[in-house]
Amino acid sequence: MEVLQDCIAGTQLHVNGRRLWDSLMEMARIGATPKGGVCRLALTDEDKAGRDLFVHWAKEAGCTITVDQIGNIFARRAGRDNSLPAVLTGSHADSQPTGGRFDGIYGVLAGLEVIRALNDHQVETEHPIEVAIWTNEEGSRFPPAMVASGVFAGVFDLEYGLSRKDQTGKTMGEELARIGYAGETPVGGRPLHACFEVHIEQGPILENASTTIGVVTGAQGQRWYELNLTGQESHAGPTPMTLRRDALLGAAKVVQLVNEIGLRFAPLACATVGMLNVYPNSRNVIPGQVFMTVDFRHPDDAVLAQMDAALREGVAMIAVDGKLEAELEQIFYYAPVAFDINCIAAVRGATEQLGYTHRDIIAGAGHDSCYLAQVAPTSMIFVPCIGGISHNEIEDALPEWIEAGANVLLNSMLTMAKRT
Ligand SMILES: [Zn+2]
Repeated sequence: MEVLQDCIAGTQLHVNGRRLWDSLMEMARIGATPKGGVCRLALTDEDKAGRDLFVHWAKEAGCTITVDQIGNIFARRAGRDNSLPAVLTGSHADSQPTGGRFDGIYGVLAGLEVIRALNDHQVETEHPIEVAIWTNEEGSRFPPAMVASGVFAGVFDLEYGLSRKDQTGKTMGEELARIGYAGETPVGGRPLHACFEVHIEQGPILENASTTIGVVTGAQGQRWYELNLTGQESHAGPTPMTLRRDALLGAAKVVQLVNEIGLRFAPLACATVGMLNVYPNSRNVIPGQVFMTVDFRHPDDAVLAQMDAALREGVAMIAVDGKLEAELEQIFYYAPVAFDINCIAAVRGATEQLGYTHRDIIAGAGHDSCYLAQVAPTSMIFVPCIGGISHNEIEDALPEWIEAGANVLLNSMLTMAKRT
């Protein structure tokens, strides 16, 4: 209804795309790498410098700043009624070691640009508006990924988050204190009316379809497995073919099986064997043992369960066939995320009114919004990135895509925060 009224009233606002681009490029100087990317690992001096610049800009735009105990930053623009829960956007400011100029930080600075644009147009909103930086989304320095939004959403407890260690043994808690971002505000419990996150797609679908905006309706569920196949090592010469218990031959059939399962549930399924350790891995010994991994992804939990059943059945048959022992263990499960229908409608409505090409899309990677969706109405907006390439220094995007995503973010937030 609100979306419709906005359409009739013709109230679409626009960000200043040039200012957003310039801010992204200025931020990209912090931790800049020779190939044009950035390296701002979580809670390093570079991450601190990036945070400081954001806080400086947000204060300049009139925001008040809150930092919670796990270093999440909230920049708040007051609404008309500040007793109402905020409409929040945000993303992460940390990067992979070979990161790009847009992953995460685009969602942060697009949020800042929303606030700047609201200031330019002297727009007052009913609800307050907030822009967040979620600490350590990448999980590159401190595994796992999305740990601070996870603590915020109650998926992990605070002690778990603060005690995550990097490879040198430093904890997140120590490093937060060192860079001055160990805040005092308790993590979580913040009332949120709606949450949005704009992000580069990190895949090729939008660009290939010449589509500017991805209306993200959810995120894939995941099941990860480890499989140990045990046969018997024996000499490659004297052992007849019919008497072998070849674990690698079984593994090869499992690779084939996993690929078939992925194709059977196409186009939304992904099924991958990414790791294979062969023992003893010697040219004239029949392999007696194989350790391998399987990674299944699908946006529908019921389909994921069917894939699971197909894997278990197939592996059992392969084991009997090859006289092997098979130990299959699911070691990680991540439930599919369905984003909030009202947030999705706000994004779709804003996109249509702005006249951008769009399609629905499922997030293939994890994002802070996947955890936020557990505690607040949430959805995401994707824009293309060139060649679908991300987590790479050459990650790139066209200025018009960057501007379009921020325009959709602005108007989606306005739909939920309500202009006065
Ligand atoms: Zn990201």
